[in-house]
Amino acid sequence: MSYSISKRVKKILPSFTLQMATKAAEMRSQGIDVINFSVGEPDFNTPPHIINAAKKAMDDGFTKYTAGPGMIEFREAICEKLSRENALDYSPTEILVSNGEKHSLFNACQALINPGDEVVVFSPYWVSFPEFVKLSDGFPVIVKTDSENNFEPDFKDLKKKISPKIKCVIINSPSNPTGGVWRPESISRLLKIAKKFNWVVISDECYERLVYEGEFFSAEKLNRSEKIGASVVSCFSLSKTYAMTGWRIGYASGPEEIIKAMAKIQGQATSCANSISQKAGIVALTGDQECVQKMRGKFLERRNHMLLLLDKLNNVTCDKPKGAFYAFPNLNKYIGKRVNKKIIKDTFDISDYILESTKVVTVPGDGFGAPGYIRLSYATNKKNISEGISRIKLALDNIK
Ligand code: GLU
Repeated sequence: MSYSISKRVKKILPSFTLQMATKAAEMRSQGIDVINFSVGEPDFNTPPHIINAAKKAMDDGFTKYTAGPGMIEFREAICEKLSRENALDYSPTEILVSNGEKHSLFNACQALINPGDEVVVFSPYWVSFPEFVKLSDGFPVIVKTDSENNFEPDFKDLKKKISPKIKCVIINSPSNPTGGVWRPESISRLLKIAKKFNWVVISDECYERLVYEGEFFSAEKLNRSEKIGASVVSCFSLSKTYAMTGWRIGYASGPEEIIKAMAKIQGQATSCANSISQKAGIVALTGDQECVQKMRGKFLERRNHMLLLLDKLNNVTCDKPKGAFYAFPNLNKYIGKRVNKKIIKDTFDISDYILESTKVVTVPGDGFGAPGYIRLSYATNKKNISEGISRIKLALDNIK
């Protein structure tokens, strides 16, 4: 062998969410009747007015590179949206359009983290957060959350882990995978700590429009209205709000110097975001928002349906997720028990066993730093939810 793969690749984990989604797609292509609760993506089609904007863009020949940070009309539309919905005033120079919000978060980490820097990540965390940090040669500092209290930060644990090496903190409310929505008091408390120790707050706000109880609070809005003065990079997605996961379009807003640094990284990696998706994005953000309310209404119905069914499972508890589209049941009581003469060691074993025995795809909580839990996406129809949970019940009832 005349080559070797970089140490960078070896030190990161694969994306468990994508791995499980790939498994589901493979099984389906083999004709297996699989129920997919793995990937977090709306099952709805992108609304027609957004699709038509993309078709028009192609017909008009809008198929070339755009400005690296994003076309000016799209960045203006983003500023209008941030002002209308988040009560935040930004100028286009403080906005970077990327190939999906995941890319925005990646760019933020690359632009801010130096080798050896530490970054606070709250667990349970979205699988990619610690890996973004490692890919930037930093170290994730995993801080606990309070499962009894919307999975809000455990400030005692945070205090114990504070060190001069910490450069950033990543937050995500509503949260993937827990569905927890943090109270504004907790976000403000964290912003004040970030200000005190000079940490940049990277706020993943991709589920901003999917809150079912209470209200969404943008970190930067609280930062400004309470005059806290922390540095915040906010990252937003069109994928979840407008059912546009495959279009790969998202954006970040923040201090101009950070946004410029992120744009420099992006310019050398992908040049710019997809031109057709940007044209569609303008229509998504400035057009009729009724589609968002309709999809949100469906997710709420599905959440309630899934919770009702989960409540009937033996030895399973599940807090009510207030946002996003994930249920995060605790199956800890099954760890250490046996099925088919094998001991269930962790939730990787539970997810594998459920998949093999009943063809239901879930994501193990261990992948999110949450042993004992599994993540179930309810971004699928009620019939699938009923069928999937009854199969999971059958599987769990065989564990002794
Ligand atoms: N954010 C989604 C999930 O957690 C999309 C997949 C991914 O990129 O991780 O399922």
